[in-house]
Amino acid sequence: MRKEFLVYGSPAIENAEIEEVLSVMKSGWLGTGPKVARFERDFAQYKGIEHSIALNSCTAALHLSILAAGIGEGDEVITTPLTFCATINAIIHAGATPVLADIDPLTMNISPSEVEVKITPKTKAILPVHFSGRPCDMDALRRIADNHKLKMIEDCAHAIETEYKGRKAGTFGDFGCFSFYVTKNIVTGEGGMVITKSEEDAARIKMLGLHGMSKDAWKRFGDEGYKHYQVVECGYKYNMMDLQAAIGIHQMQRVETYWHRRQAIWQRYHEAFAGLPITLPAPVEQNTRHAYHLYTILIDEQRCGISRDRFLDAMTAQNIGIGVHYLSIPEHPYYQQTFGWQPEGYPHAMRIGRQTVSLPLSAKLSDEDVGDVIEAVRGILL
Ligand SMILES: *Cc1c(COP(=O)(O)O)cnc(C)c1O
Repeated sequence: MRKEFLVYGSPAIENAEIEEVLSVMKSGWLGTGPKVARFERDFAQYKGIEHSIALNSCTAALHLSILAAGIGEGDEVITTPLTFCATINAIIHAGATPVLADIDPLTMNISPSEVEVKITPKTKAILPVHFSGRPCDMDALRRIADNHKLKMIEDCAHAIETEYKGRKAGTFGDFGCFSFYVTKNIVTGEGGMVITKSEEDAARIKMLGLHGMSKDAWKRFGDEGYKHYQVVECGYKYNMMDLQAAIGIHQMQRVETYWHRRQAIWQRYHEAFAGLPITLPAPVEQNTRHAYHLYTILIDEQRCGISRDRFLDAMTAQNIGIGVHYLSIPEHPYYQQTFGWQPEGYPHAMRIGRQTVSLPLSAKLSDEDVGDVIEAVRGILL
């Protein structure tokens, strides 16, 4: 058994970002400034899109995208029950009502046919989540959105490197929202990004993210002289700091290197677990690119002789940190009480949420770390 606890999702941090953070500290300009502007440009270039706006989280990115889409009180937004609570909370923050459509049990992504069933005259948008980095069925979702004149906001928190038929995740919808939280594929500690083709929407999100102050208000303390600003809306405090962007700039340069590393780990897991009585992730679909954000196995007590929760404890006892992505949204009391949702209403998400375990999958893992994970899983199940 390994000696040190393997922290789940611990990011790879290298000298370049440490030095960039130091240089920001020394410059004294810690808040939103030139590093944020550069990170936005680099990210937009990676995505091949005109506009990107850095914010302090993906939750903020989702919230402002929904507002910029003109969605609010009385409107319904259809999303998946197998996601992080932030996806749902962002819809609620915008004043709209979340509506859940169950997942396809193989891909674990929102099922387009379930989406169609949930459309009402109040539906204004679809909010797909590219779960674990696997792209949703974007042809079908795009068709539904076009037919019903719905906005589309993509939750790309798992999907920085994801592609579908040669097109990058986040460019199918009106808005693509990304996370740089510590466990994500690229990190800034806390951080998020919105991408959009619309100059007008980009300007509105930028403004809403900084108190609703007019354009470039962050420059008001710069060397070009004090600039008056005008508050044109009641906005939020969602801006990213240069301290965070300093990390992101260097992480982005390694986005493909890290992706290759996670792909290799994923394949090693796949080979090592082939004979076990567990369900492995479905193969990557033709003509798509998986971001390999999560490697999830399903522990069915009937087949494995151990419950999922006892498996989690057994992994921890082996000093391996694991994750659960996710107990389905209707398992949580707030949503049950507020919307009357019950897990049984979304049976695929419920079952997967109760069986799923995420194994460590980060560019920081050494070959020995991966070997330790494999040994622990096999030791518990065999
Ligand atoms: C992490 C995550 C978020 C929230 O990202 P933050 O940057 O932490 O706000 C939203 N949706 C999904 C699917 C996530 O995994």
